[in-house]
Amino acid sequence: MNDLELLPVGFIASYVFILGLCVGSFLNVVILRGLSKEDIVFSRSKCPKCNNQLKWYMNIPLLSYIFLRGKCAFCKCKISIQYPIVELLCGLIFLFIYFSFGLSLKMLFLWIIFFLFIAMSVTDIKEMVIIDIHAYILCVVGLLYSFLNLGDINIIQSLIGAFFGFVVMEALANIGKLLCGCRMFGEGDSLIALGLGAIFGYKSFIIVLALSILIQSICAIPILSYNSFKDKKNKLGVSYALVFVSIIALILNNVIELIENELCYLSLVIFISIILIWALINILSEIKNKKNLIAKNEEVKFNLLPFGPAMLIASTICIFYLPQIKSFILNYIS
Ligand SMILES: [Zn+2]
Repeated sequence: MNDLELLPVGFIASYVFILGLCVGSFLNVVILRGLSKEDIVFSRSKCPKCNNQLKWYMNIPLLSYIFLRGKCAFCKCKISIQYPIVELLCGLIFLFIYFSFGLSLKMLFLWIIFFLFIAMSVTDIKEMVIIDIHAYILCVVGLLYSFLNLGDINIIQSLIGAFFGFVVMEALANIGKLLCGCRMFGEGDSLIALGLGAIFGYKSFIIVLALSILIQSICAIPILSYNSFKDKKNKLGVSYALVFVSIIALILNNVIELIENELCYLSLVIFISIILIWALINILSEIKNKKNLIAKNEEVKFNLLPFGPAMLIASTICIFYLPQIKSFILNYIS
């Protein structure tokens, strides 16, 4: 038994939480300076609006934001809500990983992995960019994670996974380019997939990807549907929503089967088929429409949402619950 195990759990937990908040504070700096390409270590924190250097007590994670009521102490301009959110998220995730895996090497690696996950999600949501170095570090950390046998796969599977993840995303992106003249996913998404493939291996990466698409659909429906209703020509959002409804209906057919009402089951299948055909026609006409616009050199706006955050949320779920998800899928198939 080592000395740390003698300490009360609450004591270690509060240390882990405070450490998470501080790391979150550093993470904000990494994100901000990554986007503005500044030096991370050698310049001190400044207010981005008035350039005044912050005093130490204005730099306390979470607390400073609360005491300053979200405003800069010098110029009273608003401080972005991103700062406290990232700090709190980092603190909570550090705590959750500690409770899930205890004080261990695995915990340390997962802390680093989630540090990178949050960094990439924020840059993707804020400016739709993934900073290359974040993705490369994720890939190296993922390979090391497997090399040290901390995950479920060995180093060879990890290497294959990284290659597979990158190639699959590039292939999907280019299929989109062939169909409608615009990459379906950004270059950054392929880089994220490189790292995720290294962490999960190719088999589980497929599950992560499927879950990402599901999460993306759930988030995209309200936004894309709203855009479609505003812009009558754009039916893509509605189609997207309908496809999603059909998938949910297909999952619910388990429930219907329990009722064992054949007529009910048959009408559901017909209903879903009609919806899917209608959605497909809409999507095809939308693609044709975009192609015409590109041919006329008009500016084409695809209502794309960043896919990176969906992938990273799916990965988060899979890191903690992959066995449960696998057994759910197996149950569903059989
Ligand atoms: Zn200021």
